[in-house]
Amino acid sequence: MTTGLAALKARLADELAFLQLPAPRWTPSLERDGEPVADVAIVGAGMTGLAVAAALVQRGVSVVAYDEAPAGREGPWATTARMETLRSPKHLAGPALGIPSLTFRAWFEAQFGREAWDALDKIPRLQWMDYLRWYREVLALPVRNAHRVTDIEPRSDGVVELGVAAEGRTIRAWARRVVLATGRAGLGGPAVPGYAEALPRTRWAHSSDDNDYAELAGLRVGVVGAGASAMDSAATALEAGAAHVHLLVRRADLPRINKGKGATNPGFVQGYARLPDDWKWRIRHYINTQQVPPPRNSTQRVSRHANAHFHFGVAIEAVEERGGALQVQTSAGPIELDFLIFATGFKVDWRQRPMLRHIGPCIRVWKDRYAAPAGDEDDELAESPDLGPAFEFQPRAGMLCPGLDRVHCISYPATLSLGVITGDIPAISEGALQLADRLTGLLYAEDIEHHCARMEAYAEPEILGDEWVAEPLPSAAAASK
Ligand SMILES: Cc1cc2nc3c(=O)[nH]c(=O)nc-3n(C[C@H](O)[C@H](O)[C@H](O)COP(=O)(O)OP(=O)(O)OC[C@H]3O[C@@H](n4cnc5c(N)ncnc54)[C@H](O)[C@@H]3O)c2cc1C
Repeated sequence: MTTGLAALKARLADELAFLQLPAPRWTPSLERDGEPVADVAIVGAGMTGLAVAAALVQRGVSVVAYDEAPAGREGPWATTARMETLRSPKHLAGPALGIPSLTFRAWFEAQFGREAWDALDKIPRLQWMDYLRWYREVLALPVRNAHRVTDIEPRSDGVVELGVAAEGRTIRAWARRVVLATGRAGLGGPAVPGYAEALPRTRWAHSSDDNDYAELAGLRVGVVGAGASAMDSAATALEAGAAHVHLLVRRADLPRINKGKGATNPGFVQGYARLPDDWKWRIRHYINTQQVPPPRNSTQRVSRHANAHFHFGVAIEAVEERGGALQVQTSAGPIELDFLIFATGFKVDWRQRPMLRHIGPCIRVWKDRYAAPAGDEDDELAESPDLGPAFEFQPRAGMLCPGLDRVHCISYPATLSLGVITGDIPAISEGALQLADRLTGLLYAEDIEHHCARMEAYAEPEILGDEWVAEPLPSAAAASK
């Protein structure tokens, strides 16, 4: 009897076979300049890109996923993330797409057993990455690593042309539809306060930067922000030997309650996208203003150090480098530091994403169409893309952008339009399945002539004509006697 991951692989193969998955390819093969045109190209093979690829493969659609990262280093987990464990509870089904043997739990129990599962508190960060590596491998997903998408150019003839940098050169590739699964910073990059731009780059980092925290040993470090990444950066700096870490928090207190978690139920996941704009704005703005607390274990990882200092009600007003240090002016007085880490999140900013240069100016964002109620203005929401029901970008009023609707977005900035199905572990399967269903339907509808002709040409008999003998009606038989 096989055990462990080999047994799990066999069980998964059975489950897929019972569900008749994957469907055979049913879309027509296309070529451009002698190269195959993928039905769907996915930019990003992190958790979301993998889940979308898997759902499309199940539906018999041809897919290719590009990721600029080397194999096994996609997303933040084994690169820029610094938490010890995931925030998400271990029981969530993640990208399993409704298939029990594809869950983290199945993968974990196959190797370590039920008792270890019961004893597990939260999922270690690097173990989650190991699981994603297995997910990709066991499903044999078509991912091309070290391939960076540099250009996305929708054309008017039903394809999108991509520039893809790989192995020191840029190749052209074509797809009928393109999915952006580019993560938290997927439509922009780090949100850094304006004053940081004037500081030497050796004096500051964003929490998502891949900088070496060992270089902070002996330094006085300021961490701006109070979310999960602020705690992870502060703890990592402390563990690397920083002399002092000062958490500079604008608010008077840390948020205590994760309102987004409290909002989540199957109705919220499935029904949010159908809500009127005012409701979407109200819900997302409320969650934004309430803010998400840092996880308790991440906060304790910081506070267990005597040289960690939590400062509340401290808004940074100005920073300059003087006397070999950073002189930081705040609403609560000055503080001298050696290094600043901005755990200030991400923003939509086409300029930070060269691959979007052709389409960015065309893309309608919420502020182009929606006026927030007075007092509920929200820059993050205002810059969010205003997506259609197939997760597709829509053009700004008066702009002609043929083929823009062939580019679909399932990354964090899509959350205002679509809800929580756009990337994180709790609802990523729903997002991937919904998007795959929409894309599959669009691919079918736009080829209806082909599919109709195929139906008409279909000639596989189910009966052969030798199953019966034709007879005249009895009355006709009698009359002929
Ligand atoms: C520190 C940290 C901790 C987190 N913890 C949790 C958690 O506990 N639970 C949770 O649900 N979520 C968590 N998240 C959110 C997390 O980002 C998502 O859940 C998850 O990574 C989303 O997967 P994704 O595939 O959408 O994005 P990512 O995992 O970010 O993957 C995006 C991929 O796109 C690739 N890419 C981008 N641009 C290009 C390009 N031009 N060409 C080719 N490839 C490109 C990148 O290389 C990357 O691999 C955390 C995020 C961070 C930053």
